Amino acid sequence: MINNKEKTIAKYTRLIILGLILGGTMVIHYLHISLGPRVPSVHALCPLGGLENLWAWIGGNANLQKLFNGTMTLFFFMLIFAVVFGRAFCGNICPFGALQEFTGKIKKRKLAVPQKADRILRLLKYLILVFITVMAWITATIWISPYDPYAAFAHIWTGTEILGEYGVGFIILVIVIVASIFIDRFFCKYLCPAGALYGIISKISPTKIKRSSCSMCGQCSKVCPMNIDVTKIDTVKSPECINCTQCVVKCPSKSNDLQITFFKKAVKPFVFIVASVLIFFGSLFIFHKAGIFQITIPSLESVMESGNFLQIADLRGSISIQDGAEYVGMELSDFYNLMEIPETVPKETLLREVSSFVPGWDFHVIRNSR
Ligand code: SF4
Ligand code: SF4
Repeated sequence: MINNKEKTIAKYTRLIILGLILGGTMVIHYLHISLGPRVPSVHALCPLGGLENLWAWIGGNANLQKLFNGTMTLFFFMLIFAVVFGRAFCGNICPFGALQEFTGKIKKRKLAVPQKADRILRLLKYLILVFITVMAWITATIWISPYDPYAAFAHIWTGTEILGEYGVGFIILVIVIVASIFIDRFFCKYLCPAGALYGIISKISPTKIKRSSCSMCGQCSKVCPMNIDVTKIDTVKSPECINCTQCVVKCPSKSNDLQITFFKKAVKPFVFIVASVLIFFGSLFIFHKAGIFQITIPSLESVMESGNFLQIADLRGSISIQDGAEYVGMELSDFYNLMEIPETVPKETLLREVSSFVPGWDFHVIRNSR
């Protein structure tokens, strides 16, 4: 039995968690921009990067630019997480979902998208999922990056520089933020390829929203950010459900006619939210300790100390020629030779900037061919 106090606690706990995650990820993005590759980039932290990387990974090739083996761990973990908890990541953890949810609070009354248009628009995210995967596999790059509104959001700290590499993504970001004032979770509903993937997997999840005979007051349908008509359904099986528990918390029934269930057993919304978030971050912490969640390049000092030099394939464009040579344990002149860099290029030059001295020199082509 869940009383009103417990419902209020669950509602605000979820919002506080989302706020903390959004704030925390913004700090990480800021630190990455100011401190460089020792702090994970948005790409290394994006679970979908793993899907884009899968082909390169299966083929035993170097990870795509900006991705690490830890990104693959995150990808596989997200699949398992979606099997167990459905789209609870979207509802209770995703910082971009949080951003839309907080923006959405500006205007309570939302636009009603005509049903037919809504149905067609929701298919868009599945098409985007297929398209970006195929394109990433064909081009062997994170092809979507310049158009990705979250990647643009993560680079807002670069100021006007964002209009260079992430100009298109920034325009899409502005559209998404404005649209989410008028339409709940606009990006999640219509555009997010990760949400599409988790939605497909959530079909087999044991986590479900279940309704028993109730007064049909319609409060649950009204509050649902994904516009699921919960009032008319006994078990929510829609891939659109993000397991946010807002419907359960809003339901005024004293006899708990609406519940979130795990393997058919009712779970209190507060317990579900906190447990899923703790399991999510707790698992990542364990993976990190076990050494399978490496999403940044190790420090040069630790590489030198351990003598475990990196492969050329592990180098990143954001390190200098000199550091690159030290990372792989080579003499500087041999490294210049191997990487086909003329020795007239200063050794402090970042690998990604060598092309400004040697037109046509492409770090990623050279790196992948070594
Ligand atoms: S649908 Fe995408 S943006 Fe929305 S919460 Fe899920 S992963 Fe995040
Ligand atoms: S059905 Fe309930 S849990 Fe699912 S998205 Fe709607 S409000 Fe959230």
